[in-house]
Amino acid sequence: AKAEGRNTFRYYTQALTEAASERLETETRLRRALELGHLEVFYQPQLDVATGSIIGVEALVRWRDPEEGLISPARFIPVAEETGLINRLGQQVLERACRQAVAWEQAGLPALDMAVNLSAHQIIDPQMTSRVRRALHESGLSAERLVLEITESTLMTQAEDVLGTLEELKQLGVQVAIDDFGTGYSSLAYLKRFAIDWLKVDRCFIQDLPADKSDAELTQTIINLAHNLGIQVLAEGVETREQLDFLARLGCDSWQGFLCSRPLPPEELAEHLNNRDDE
Ligand code: C2E
Ligand code: CA
Ligand code: CA
Ligand code: CA
Repeated sequence: AKAEGRNTFRYYTQALTEAASERLETETRLRRALELGHLEVFYQPQLDVATGSIIGVEALVRWRDPEEGLISPARFIPVAEETGLINRLGQQVLERACRQAVAWEQAGLPALDMAVNLSAHQIIDPQMTSRVRRALHESGLSAERLVLEITESTLMTQAEDVLGTLEELKQLGVQVAIDDFGTGYSSLAYLKRFAIDWLKVDRCFIQDLPADKSDAELTQTIINLAHNLGIQVLAEGVETREQLDFLARLGCDSWQGFLCSRPLPPEELAEHLNNRDDE
């Protein structure tokens, strides 16, 4: 039994060492990818429920590795967060997204809102407001067209640190959205303190609509209370026509999901917008 224990211990140490070296390898490669400009930004449309028109896009980072191809953010965002690379990565995405929004407009496409994800590390960075101001200034994007997405868990765990930055950002005139809403136990009354523009209802509450009665009730409750506080609601991960029709009946303001489009590279998104124009 003792020998077995030792073997188990050896096995765990080995597994831990492997995990650590894999992490280190990802970190080294991610650092290089940032320097070489191997990170790309894809864009997913956000639509108005009532009119069906595209009102904005969400910027979603992708890593194009010369050998591995496209790597999804689920694989490298956590590493970027742990190593602090997320600040540089996030700033690159923010600057590029702002420039892209202006470029589309100059190419004659409708002026869309641009939503950018911010990690907890970025939002508690004391330089954050001046970084956002600079990205707006350098791109020429007007502040009210930028939507900064912060997850509900970031808001809940770092509330006091986040509050000050959010107030500064709101003074710049940008919009603020709470991402993955419903997964993090915040009370809506509490949200009032933050002067939030949007709640994004997490996909896990949308995917089983309309059949799942408790998800339906929860979504309805979020929409009603948000509207009472003057906050708009966007449903994430809408994949079927039934889900969309149901959300319309609940009074949901806007939506995003594969039913309209997956996140697309900028050229393809422009094409998508042009094709819709012809409809
Ligand atoms: P998120 O911010 O909640 O982004 C929405 C995710 O849902 C995206 O995954 C999108 O492709 C996916 N999605 C959209 N519609 C549907 C649908 O109808 N069905 C399904 N199954 N999925 C849908 P993606 O692009 O893989 O990003 C995953 C997460 O990585 C994001 O979740 C966000 O937390 C993080 N992320 C992505 N880009 C950035 C970034 O630039 N900065 C930071 N800090 N995080 C990012
Ligand atoms: Ca998001
Ligand atoms: Ca989300
Ligand atoms: Ca469910």
